[in-house]
Amino acid sequence: MDEIFADGKFSHSRQVGCLEMALARYTGARHVIGVNSGTDALVLLLKACGLRPGDRVLVPAYSFVATASSVVLAGGRPVFTDIDPDTYAMHPDRIADAAADGARFMLPVHLFSRMADMTALSAYAADRGITLLEDSAEGIGMRQHGVHAGLHGRGGVLSFFPSKTLGALGDAGAVLTDDADLADHVAALRHHGRTGRTLAHFPGIANESRHIGHNSKMDDLQAAVLLAKLTVLDEDIRHRAVLARRYDEGLRGVPGITRLPAVTDAPDEVFYVYLIETDRRDELAAHLQDRGIGTETYYPRPLHLQPCFAETGHRPGDFPVAEAASRRALALPLYADLTEAEVDRVCAAVRAFHAGRVPA
Ligand SMILES: *Cc1c(COP(=O)(O)O)cnc(C)c1O
Repeated sequence: MDEIFADGKFSHSRQVGCLEMALARYTGARHVIGVNSGTDALVLLLKACGLRPGDRVLVPAYSFVATASSVVLAGGRPVFTDIDPDTYAMHPDRIADAAADGARFMLPVHLFSRMADMTALSAYAADRGITLLEDSAEGIGMRQHGVHAGLHGRGGVLSFFPSKTLGALGDAGAVLTDDADLADHVAALRHHGRTGRTLAHFPGIANESRHIGHNSKMDDLQAAVLLAKLTVLDEDIRHRAVLARRYDEGLRGVPGITRLPAVTDAPDEVFYVYLIETDRRDELAAHLQDRGIGTETYYPRPLHLQPCFAETGHRPGDFPVAEAASRRALALPLYADLTEAEVDRVCAAVRAFHAGRVPA
C-alpha cells in the first residue's frame, strides 16, 4: 500500500499483476484475472465463454443469489436444479432431464466446506455438450483429486469479499482458467473491452476496444492487501480445520442437531464456514445472539423462491433438498482469530439450548 501511495498509481499499479501471479502459483491455474468482485468474475466469465442472449444455464437452487443473478446479468437464463444433501451442491442425480434439455452451460457451486462431485458433473456435461464452469467463489484452497476448485471445467471464479476465507478490505474477485484465449477475453472485458493491441492505421496507439466491456478492474489497494494475506492463508486454513474438529467433538450427539459437517481427517480440508443443521434454527440463533454469539443463516431463501427469479415460475416444494437446507442450516462462528476456548463456549451454549435448560 505504501508503494501505491508513493507512486501515486491508484490504478494499473504492479499489485494486481503480482497478485494474479501469486494466485496462479497457489491454485495451479495457468491464468488468473483480477476483477472487482466475485459476481463480476462470474458475469465476465460467462460472457467470455460465448454465452448468447437467452442461453440456459444450470445452477443449483441453493446458493448465494449472485450465482443465478450473474447468469441474468450476462444475458442468460438460470435453470434451477435441486442439490445433493451431502455436499449441498449440484449433482447429476438431482438434475431433471427437462431442465438439462437445451442447457448450454452448467455452473455448480462449492459451498461451505465441500466441493461438488466434479467427476460426476464433468462426465454429465461432456455427455450433453454442456460447457462446465464453476462458481468457486467460496473455494480458495479446496482441491478435488489434486485439482483446485475452479479448474475442473473451462473456468471458475474466486471472491475476496471480506467474509471469505481470503478476504480483502472491500470487494475483489478473480477468474481462474487454463485457457489463454478465454483469459485474454476476460482481461479485455474487465477494462472497457480493451485488448492492448495497437491499431494498424494508428501505429503506437494501444487502446483498441474490440468488445463492449465493463469497468471491473481489481482495486490496487485491495490487491496489495490480498498479496499480504495470501502469505498466511494456509496457516489460517489449518487453524479453521482445528476449530472445525473442535466443534465436531463439542457438538457430536447433541439431540436436536440433525447434521454436522462430517469433518474427516483429510489434512487439506478447507472450512469456509462451519454449518450445522437443526430443526429449531431460528430459536437457536436467537439464543446464541442473546449470549453475544453471532451466527449466519446460509441461505435462508432458496433461489427458485427469490422474487427476482419469479419468471422461472417455481413454487415451494419444487426442490425439497434445497428448501430443507434453507430452513435448517446455521453457520457457527469460524474465522482465523477465533480461539479454541471461544469454540468451547459456543458449543456449551448450543448444548444448553438443546438440553432444554433454556425455555423454548
Ligand atoms: C461470495 C459469493 C459470490 C459473490 O462474490 P462477491 O465477491 O461478493 O461478488 C458468488 N457466489 C458465491 C457462492 C459466493 O459465496
